[in-house]
Amino acid sequence: MPGPYELSREEMAGLLAHEPSYRVRQVWDGLHTRVLQPAEMTELPVALRTHLEEVLAPSLTEADRREGDEGETIKWRFDLHDGARIETVLMHYPDRSTVCVSTQAGCAMDCQFCATGQAGFTRQLTTGEIVEQVAEAMRAARPRRLSRVVFMGMGEPLANYDRVWGAIVRLHGDMGLSARHLTLSTVGLVPGIRRLAGEDLPVNLAVSLHAANDELRDRLLPINRRYPLTVLAEACQGYVQASGRRLSFEWALIAGVNDRASDAAELAAYARPLGAHINLIPLNPTPGYGVLGTPPEGVRRFRRMLTDLGANATVRVTRGSDIDAACGQLATAAPKPQSVRLSSRMHRSNELR
Ligand code: SAH
Repeated sequence: MPGPYELSREEMAGLLAHEPSYRVRQVWDGLHTRVLQPAEMTELPVALRTHLEEVLAPSLTEADRREGDEGETIKWRFDLHDGARIETVLMHYPDRSTVCVSTQAGCAMDCQFCATGQAGFTRQLTTGEIVEQVAEAMRAARPRRLSRVVFMGMGEPLANYDRVWGAIVRLHGDMGLSARHLTLSTVGLVPGIRRLAGEDLPVNLAVSLHAANDELRDRLLPINRRYPLTVLAEACQGYVQASGRRLSFEWALIAGVNDRASDAAELAAYARPLGAHINLIPLNPTPGYGVLGTPPEGVRRFRRMLTDLGANATVRVTRGSDIDAACGQLATAAPKPQSVRLSSRMHRSNELR
């Protein structure tokens, strides 16, 4: 079964070939504009609705749902049809709601400090599986309007380029999200950044930098050995020129590793010519990486160093750390059903304490 968002509009027309032609628009708008499930499309004749409930059945099955930050953050774990597992995080803010979507089950980039990287790669997500995460979040956000999507969940979006771009086109063209409210975050896959520069939708680009000298970056983010910092900077420059968008760099602050004065100096020197905005994220703990995050005072000091050096930096407010939903904490391990129950019970009892 294809899943409700897997079909293109032409394929949907094929599916509804024996229906009056206006049905295609009705079902398409129902799925994308009104974000309904087929069962909720009450304007359809019962027989058709029942048929669609079957052939457009959801491809994501909720395996777990947790709320953190007093209900302002929701993390789902979804099972896919083949048993692969992904996570999606919805975050409410006073002025907007944002969803963080996964683009792959697992990740092959092997960044040392990231839980997804530590668990390895399972498979690419399809366009429909990516769009469906947004649809789920839109439904859950009601009556608030979900207006932003960040491609910062599990996986490396530029290592799944075509399907991710298919999702972006759908979110923009069919679901009405503005390109400037879509942000793609990459570890720095240079060919993907170059390709992005040739697209006609200017989405925001965030690059996970974390180190501004090759020796350290080679260690923390092994992909740097293939696309070192000078090559990455050129690709970023190309994107900024082509899109007119401001670039941002993500920098997870790791105590004693990338939070020294010399790191701030290297980062400022790298970011300034690109006009990049720096997002500082205190490192979130993960099972496979023993080094601690920089404490809050150190984070503030690092930010001051950057601004004194003429760079533009803010500290990202961490969301969902109480439910392991924060940056880099999305893990793919698919435990046996028994241990899922045990661990969620353990989690609940932890929360009660
Ligand atoms: N593969 C993409 C998107 C997923 S990671 C990328 O690398 O950008 C989303 C962000 O979380 C990235 O900036 C990543 O470097 C960061 N991150 C990973 N592990 C982290 C951790 N333990 N603490 C804080 N941020 C982390």
